[in-house]
Amino acid sequence: MTHPTDAGCIFCKIVVGQIPCFKLLEDEATIAFMDINPVNPGHALAVAKGHWPTVDVIPADVLSSVARTAQKVAKAVVKELKPVGVNLLQANGEGAGQSVPHLHIHVMPRREGDGVALNWGYKPGDKAEIEAIYKRLKAAL
Ligand code: 5GP
Ligand code: ZN
Repeated sequence: MTHPTDAGCIFCKIVVGQIPCFKLLEDEATIAFMDINPVNPGHALAVAKGHWPTVDVIPADVLSSVARTAQKVAKAVVKELKPVGVNLLQANGEGAGQSVPHLHIHVMPRREGDGVALNWGYKPGDKAEIEAIYKRLKAAL
């Protein structure tokens, strides 16, 4: 299977073994390895082998494969590390905190009081605004 690659991309280099990683598993379309800056112990990444930066450009079947790989890793994390919870996180674009523009899903084990700033409190939205945006998105689907 051939994948698009980007010679300057750190994850493309990991995919071909040019840069080492702690590889958890690999299949035709994906690879999973430990994150080198773990937010908590066990933080891992499920990564597409091909170089697609974001969710809006990656083929749907590859995204499905990445999700399947993330699930496998999450199951091992839950079974082995018994965290209080696990977040799956996938960032698109610098504004969303994406630092490596090569699609990946973070598998983030959570620990009590770890202070990871992923979660937000509920604040009721404005119904009219929700509806207006809903209409635009529905029309874009
Ligand atoms: P993003 O910020 O794009 O959502 O996530 C990129 C992740 O890749 C970060 O959590 C960062 O720690 C991780 N990362 C960056 N460079 C490397 C590397 O060379 N090896 C590994 N294993 N992880 C990396
Ligand atoms: Zn890449």
